[in-house]
Amino acid sequence: MPEPAPPALQLPNQELDRALSLTRGEFAALAVSQRRTSRDWRSWLAGAAFVASLLGASGLMTLRERLSWSAHLEWWFLALGWAVGSIPIVLWARRNHRLLGEHRLLCPSCSEPLVDTWLPRGRGDRVLATGECLRCRTLLFPDEA
Ligand SMILES: [Zn+2]
Repeated sequence: MPEPAPPALQLPNQELDRALSLTRGEFAALAVSQRRTSRDWRSWLAGAAFVASLLGASGLMTLRERLSWSAHLEWWFLALGWAVGSIPIVLWARRNHRLLGEHRLLCPSCSEPLVDTWLPRGRGDRVLATGECLRCRTLLFPDEA
């Protein structure tokens, strides 16, 4: 079930069918809101679940050593830890990408995120400065002089 966008991210009188019909000011406001939303408790929970999964795998490896289980089990425990730990990370990344689309912060031409999605790299600032998609160079604010 899709969750509704937070009220702060909704702009009045938007033409949702027009690709990136945002002014630079609206884009900047949405980028700030997106940053806040993408780093809420869910991202911390996903990160914590990933670390917990790896710690669980490490615990199983220690247990294997103490109980003298077969050595090849270590690789299975490690693979299991990565696989289970990746699930919340993938879910978080998919949610993030969906929110970027809902907030029209993806390039209308190539779907590249127009703001930072994980580590801060100043992508939104560079998009604002150049007015272009950083990947395909599509002009994002063509109505502006
Ligand atoms: Zn693009």
